[in-house]
Amino acid sequence: MTSKALVVGAGAIGLRTALELLRRNVRVVLRSPEHPLHHSTCSMGAGGLWMPFHCDDPRVDSWAASTLDELLLEAKSTDDSAVEIVPTILLKRYHNGPIIENYVVAKGSEGVENSSSKVSPLPSWTSDPRLDFQHLSVEMLSWQNNVHQLRIPSQDDLVNAGYRFCWMFKPPIVDAPKKLQSMLNEVGQHPMTEDVNVKTGKYYATVREMINEAINLGCDTVVNCTGLGSRDLCSDPTVVGARGVLLHFDRTCERMEKFASMANDAAILTEEPSWASETDNCYLIPRGDVIVVGGTYLEGDNEQSIRPEEKERIIKNAQLLGVDTDKSPSIGEWTGFRPYRPTTRLELEDRADVPNGFKVVHNYGHGGSGWTVFAGAAREVASLLDV
Ligand SMILES: Cc1cc2nc3c(=O)[nH]c(=O)nc-3n(C[C@H](O)[C@H](O)[C@H](O)COP(=O)(O)OP(=O)(O)OC[C@H]3O[C@@H](n4cnc5c(N)ncnc54)[C@H](O)[C@@H]3O)c2cc1C
Repeated sequence: MTSKALVVGAGAIGLRTALELLRRNVRVVLRSPEHPLHHSTCSMGAGGLWMPFHCDDPRVDSWAASTLDELLLEAKSTDDSAVEIVPTILLKRYHNGPIIENYVVAKGSEGVENSSSKVSPLPSWTSDPRLDFQHLSVEMLSWQNNVHQLRIPSQDDLVNAGYRFCWMFKPPIVDAPKKLQSMLNEVGQHPMTEDVNVKTGKYYATVREMINEAINLGCDTVVNCTGLGSRDLCSDPTVVGARGVLLHFDRTCERMEKFASMANDAAILTEEPSWASETDNCYLIPRGDVIVVGGTYLEGDNEQSIRPEEKERIIKNAQLLGVDTDKSPSIGEWTGFRPYRPTTRLELEDRADVPNGFKVVHNYGHGGSGWTVFAGAAREVASLLDV
């Protein structure tokens, strides 16, 4: 059984994994070459929305459900929590789900596009009752919004843009920088923590180098939580960076006139035309003190800064989703690289070149869902280590 672990990486995955081990009485040494709030840490800039997205591992639903348990509790814990429950609307052109099938068939004869050939099952996470998931036409959304007063585009604007349906649910959103800092504080203050260096830790070039360091530190386990860094570290070409770009606006920014009378923030997302595509997403996520507007999902694109045409498109997204960018220009921008892998690598590595009983665990490649699965994935590491 593991008694002392070197955890490498201080993003959402590394910090939460370190905490899970500490809470189970494992001594921990935490190492990262960069502070969690450094711009290169993918977890720092992320939208923080709980929703499985570009993470295709079959275990993702159970990790996400377990993370949801934790985030919902945290959202209710204090007024100063890093987690907030925010109504979320995912815009769709077609009704790819069974819930309002009858409604759509009936309307089909009256001229609403009847695209039953495009019906596909809803993902299983949508059946979690805690999310209050609804599959609506934009007409129904508009009726409901008489009560909810969410800052969302009007029914006419949605229909004109080609969106006739939506998913509406209430997920938690993590204020990523705040949560990273609070997890780092908790690791630093935990009595089982042996040492923390998240500023001048080493960029390990190989897993072997990481193992040697762990052995020198007296650890019997090393847990690799280096996200996209694992591409080089583990010589794993299956993990690729999926580039995302976004702009920040102040949470109290001025709203476009049509949105100004509505009182409550909502997250709004789409990957479908005419406002978006699978590679050029359009989303607005209220997160802590900022509103995050994006974005892109571009695998293998390594550009570090936002291209002028991307910036122009994101400003347009912000306007479509209600931000008056003339009166409230963006206050920041960020480019990040989601560590996408066809399946997350969360496993014990069987190696012949380590001392008897020494364990090597990998926990990387959570794609666009790191904040959706971080707690569940950390628990799985603990169970692999039998602690
Ligand atoms: C634009 C964008 C929006 C996103 N929005 C969401 C969202 O709304 N919801 C959601 O769930 N997810 C979202 N994500 C995805 C999420 O951010 C990632 O899945 C998550 O951050 C991955 O966490 P990580 O800890 O594995 O990686 P990181 O946060 O990148 O942490 C990796 C750590 O490893 C260290 N490291 C790297 N290489 C080495 C090395 N060789 N040696 C030692 N240390 C090393 C780094 O310094 C860092 O500390 C988004 C991502 C992007 C880019």
